[in-house]
Amino acid sequence: MLTQHLLTVKNNRRFEQQHVLITGAARGIGLEIARHFAREGARLSIIDINAEDLPLAEQQLKKETGAAVDTYQGDIARRNEMIGIIDQVEQVQPIDILINNAGIAFETPFLDIRDEEWKRIIDINLTGFFIVSQLVCRYMAKRKRGAVVNMASKNALDGEFGYAHYNASKGGIVMLTKTMAIELAHLGIRVNAVCPGYIRTPMSEAIDPPEFAERFASRYIPMDRPGSAEEIAPVFLFLAGNDSSFITGQIIIADGGQLAGQKPGADLLGRMDR
Ligand code: NAD
Repeated sequence: MLTQHLLTVKNNRRFEQQHVLITGAARGIGLEIARHFAREGARLSIIDINAEDLPLAEQQLKKETGAAVDTYQGDIARRNEMIGIIDQVEQVQPIDILINNAGIAFETPFLDIRDEEWKRIIDINLTGFFIVSQLVCRYMAKRKRGAVVNMASKNALDGEFGYAHYNASKGGIVMLTKTMAIELAHLGIRVNAVCPGYIRTPMSEAIDPPEFAERFASRYIPMDRPGSAEEIAPVFLFLAGNDSSFITGQIIIADGGQLAGQKPGADLLGRMDR
């Protein structure tokens, strides 16, 4: 009985002794991913640009999980800043897992997108992932092991009205993921991506009022509701850990069925009423 219990406890701490670097984990989905890794025994390093939320996240994670957590304020789009931070993170303990999550989103009609807006989104959502991945994977390659999980989006695969810049940046992440996967596989590094659909976070709440989220879900999401960060974090842990040891270059969609096909309207659903 005791052995069984110990086995269960052990299985629930899949990331014991592992060092996980997560970008953009001061809040939102990144913070939830950090919490899930911390609960399973990982040491965490977090890079985020937000100097206000970062110490709060660190405090919260340590208090809730007892995990070792180091935080670094920095902008993933600035190579010089990232070189210094990632060297420091590596010195604390070699990085086993990289979660590229930091990102920004805002709505602009295609005809009105200014060059600065386009550049800002691409710099952070695409170039930032490239910079951090390259710096971390150079270390991982020397050790011949590592896992990278990139935050893409349902919008990487299907256009969304008003988000040409964001959609293009996330579409780029899919191809970055696949190309990194085939170039780095022989070096023992797996690279995968997650495409969440509509998730309620500080980011989406800043863009859309709750009534909009409800209307959107009822019109487009077969499961009839937005997702939560708690439902996305476990997908990252699956792709980062041994349960996915033969999976690389893959894109996992977690969107309540939005990309599975057209959501039937009330008229069609009515025909199948139960
Ligand atoms: P969020 O705004 O709540 O969190 C994003 C975090 O990234 C913040 O802590 C922010 O400070 C940090 N960040 C932003 N720019 C940065 C930079 N240049 N350098 C370092 N850190 C930076 O957003 P979220 O909804 O949790 O989104 C997290 C990721 O998930 C993003 O990549 C987003 O595009 C993606 N995503 C979100 C949704 C959704 O519906 N919320 C859906 C699909 C994908």
